[in-house]
Amino acid sequence: MGASVAYHLARRGVTDVVLLEREKLLATGSTGRNAGGVRHQFSNAANIRLSIESIALLERFREDVGHEIDFHQDGYVFLLSTPASVETFKRNVALQRSLGVDVDWLGPGDAERLAPGLDARGVIGATFCRRDGIADPNGVTMGFAKAAQAAGVSIERETEATGIAVERGRVSSVQTTKGTIATPVVVNAAGPHARAIGRLAGVDVPVDPYRRHIFIAAFDALTPGVHVPATRIMVIDFETTFYFHREGSGLLFGMGDPAEPSTFDTTVRWDFLEETTQVAVTRLPALADASISHAWAGLYEMTPDGNPIIGPVRDMPGLFLINGFSGHGFQHSPAAGRIVADVIAGCDPGLDLTPFALERFVSGAVSGERYIV
Ligand SMILES: Cc1cc2nc3c(=O)[nH]c(=O)nc-3n(C[C@H](O)[C@H](O)[C@H](O)COP(=O)(O)OP(=O)(O)OC[C@H]3O[C@@H](n4cnc5c(N)ncnc54)[C@H](O)[C@@H]3O)c2cc1C
Repeated sequence: MGASVAYHLARRGVTDVVLLEREKLLATGSTGRNAGGVRHQFSNAANIRLSIESIALLERFREDVGHEIDFHQDGYVFLLSTPASVETFKRNVALQRSLGVDVDWLGPGDAERLAPGLDARGVIGATFCRRDGIADPNGVTMGFAKAAQAAGVSIERETEATGIAVERGRVSSVQTTKGTIATPVVVNAAGPHARAIGRLAGVDVPVDPYRRHIFIAAFDALTPGVHVPATRIMVIDFETTFYFHREGSGLLFGMGDPAEPSTFDTTVRWDFLEETTQVAVTRLPALADASISHAWAGLYEMTPDGNPIIGPVRDMPGLFLINGFSGHGFQHSPAAGRIVADVIAGCDPGLDLTPFALERFVSGAVSGERYIV
């Protein structure tokens, strides 16, 4: 998020910008631990709009931003196993189509044909968008960061923001471990740590961290008898949140654990692999014979309604938020960064920011996102 805001500010000629990163490298937080998934299929119109804009930029990333991002648009399939989910998805497909997104309804047999090796038993409907896909999160971050830097933005690594000074009711500077930076504009792009950064300015940012695992199954997908998709199609079993896609010659998979409370802990819970595998082998039987080559855990940055918080803080002039993407932040970073840059530069962002406003949690005008994996 920080790199995207910096890039889009630079494109508007605003280059007196410092991107702070407390780690040695960029993209080692949630961005460096995600599944790379990019999709149009959301339940909330505002999120679908973010996707349409973001995916358009990802499609021309090499030309516009000048970096390779390994973007494969092999589509996303959502598998639905209950009449209630089918009803919800029917409404949402209508919404997606009304916004110009090309989404297909599939039967279980169609889903199995698209994703060889998939066992769609119990599935009563599925949706597919062929322009959804998988891209490289590190490539996108580095692309934005390098282009911003080339335009004059400073990137300060190993520099932690430790304080935000407020004078006469608005932000005036940021204290860091390497000194103070006077500034009338601060953007909170701290991912799962957004609440802590908000607190520095006395603002409650309702973002909580939740651990999510990714497991990599190692097998040679070309071995006869190993049935897994040849493409990078993403398959999501909506009821269980189990998902998978090809990763090199192996397979990346994961699943949420709704029972786990909020935590900053990112150690891998190997006992959760067992739980995940029980679901995984019913949907992709080839996983029963695969060994797990590695695994990691990262943090979702969840808001109470699953929609992000994007834009200015009404009660703290100068403070802007780009937080709480609730599992979708990598893919929405192009549009979200562009919106924040526009608002800072005093331009019309060209879309209604009400669904993303911090103040929605107080006013109760919350609509939220249902497609959280
Ligand atoms: C397992 C997993 C799978 C996911 N899969 C997907 C997916 O398929 N598609 C998708 O779109 N999204 C996915 N996500 C979500 C996505 O990764 C996040 O929404 C996104 O990376 C958030 O980006 P960010 O820049 O806000 O946060 P981060 O990438 O965490 O960046 C925040 C940065 O702020 C720095 N920071 C924090 N505090 C300070 C401080 N005080 N001073 C200086 N620097 C600070 C951190 O070091 C960090 O580098 C997934 C997440 C996880 C964990």
